[in-house]
Amino acid sequence: MARELKYDVVIVGQGPAGSSLSYLLRKSGLKVAGIDWVDWDRLWGKPCGDAIGAHHFDETGLPRPSGDALMQEVKGIDLYSPSEEIRLRVKGEGYMIDRNKYGRRLVEEAYKEGVDIFLKTRMGSVVMENGKLAGVKASGPGGETLIFKAKIIVDATGSGGSVRRKLPPSWPVYEPLKKTDASIAYRRIVELSQEIEEPEYIRIYLNTDIAPGGYWWLFPKGRTIANIGLGVQGGRGYPHPARIYREKLMKRPDVRSEVRVLSDAGALVPTRRPANTLAWDNFLGIGDNGYTVNPIHGGGMGYAMTAANYAAKAIVEAFEANDFSRKGPLWKLNLYYMRGLGAKQAGLDIFRIYLQDTPNEVIEWALKNNIIDARGAYETSVTGELEANLSLLDKVKLIAGNLRHIGRLLELAKVKSYMTRVKQLYKEYPEDPDQLQAWVERVEQLYREYKRELGVNW
Ligand SMILES: Cc1cc2nc3c(=O)[nH]c(=O)nc-3n(C[C@H](O)[C@H](O)[C@H](O)COP(=O)(O)OP(=O)(O)OC[C@H]3O[C@@H](n4cnc5c(N)ncnc54)[C@H](O)[C@@H]3O)c2cc1C
Repeated sequence: MARELKYDVVIVGQGPAGSSLSYLLRKSGLKVAGIDWVDWDRLWGKPCGDAIGAHHFDETGLPRPSGDALMQEVKGIDLYSPSEEIRLRVKGEGYMIDRNKYGRRLVEEAYKEGVDIFLKTRMGSVVMENGKLAGVKASGPGGETLIFKAKIIVDATGSGGSVRRKLPPSWPVYEPLKKTDASIAYRRIVELSQEIEEPEYIRIYLNTDIAPGGYWWLFPKGRTIANIGLGVQGGRGYPHPARIYREKLMKRPDVRSEVRVLSDAGALVPTRRPANTLAWDNFLGIGDNGYTVNPIHGGGMGYAMTAANYAAKAIVEAFEANDFSRKGPLWKLNLYYMRGLGAKQAGLDIFRIYLQDTPNEVIEWALKNNIIDARGAYETSVTGELEANLSLLDKVKLIAGNLRHIGRLLELAKVKSYMTRVKQLYKEYPEDPDQLQAWVERVEQLYREYKRELGVNW
């Protein structure tokens, strides 16, 4: 026997995207259900680097991490060149968090304020009625079949996209993730015998010998605990990052000083532009399944929170208008996201494609010659516009200094112009869903042209 439950909104998945939305809707007066297949102690359980910028909390109204959810305050990032001779210190406030403790806090607060939380509840299929998305079917604790009916179903199930992929194929909501547009990432949380100096700076190492198409990191969580890991680009035949960790990173004295492994696991990170749409009739999709992730550093928690914040606004407006179609307020999630953070994300995606084929010697040379400095790295990450020192004088100086890299330098100017162009396209994201296909074709055309110019064939 199946039990039918009626809600205004059902949020499938209570990771960073879903639980942020549950929290933000807790005082909306709407009848909301949040479901997840894990239990309390495994909420937000996806392996992660656990680093997040402080501004995300202020921008979304989510509580800053505190108490036992906060493991280390962060003052900035130290970015190392492949030889590690050059270090850029990029200042910026952030946190190293205990994901489970922070996530639990959001879900508990949402629950206390009236959101119904169903844990150990696995969504299996979607319920369609007269061609419309009407709910989801799930299996609750003990195997009970639960049918959640709602006006709006939100997919917040991470990169698996459990809801998206089950919607009718004629809906333009599911785009399979190309392997080369994903990073395979692996991390350990370890206790170290050696004390970490300046634990308030997280470390990122650019080194294609260790992390091809990605980077490796050491993020302190206090003086003796660190989150250490790496991400490599998928689909290029590179070794698995867990193997690289064992064979290469463990040779380093700073990594080898581990006395205890507290956790080790890996997962996929989408590192591309956002999905073409985050909304359709009675449907929203946020977080990793909407590819709302920074394509350069793979940070997805803050982007998921931003998407959740916009989703909350669109949902409230949809109920005010009593219109749950793609032509109504739900579409505003796309307009808010794509024209703001999404435009920046697409700009960074263009830069990511360039970086993933850039060898160590060019990275070393660009950092050594101040082509990108700490301010530029910061500005690029904030705006999605490439802030590189490309003045004529710099070019002359460099061309005189190193003939081998002229081609790469000229390419950088090209990359910068494509970043600006793609951002502009995202700012023109269509008001009307009927115009989506034409807009997608313009985006795809721009990517094709860019890849052809760079000679990228993956
Ligand atoms: C190794 C690694 C390091 C990373 N480092 C960072 C970092 O330092 N900073 C950062 O910001 N981001 C980082 N990320 C990315 C970040 O972890 C993700 O972007 C973020 O967790 C995405 O949140 P989400 O809510 O979309 O998805 P998820 O965290 O995947 O949550 C999805 C939830 O949905 C539930 N679910 C899935 N399917 C179903 C179903 N059928 N029924 C019920 N429930 C379901 C899952 O149990 C889960 O709780 C990293 C990722 C990896 C892999």
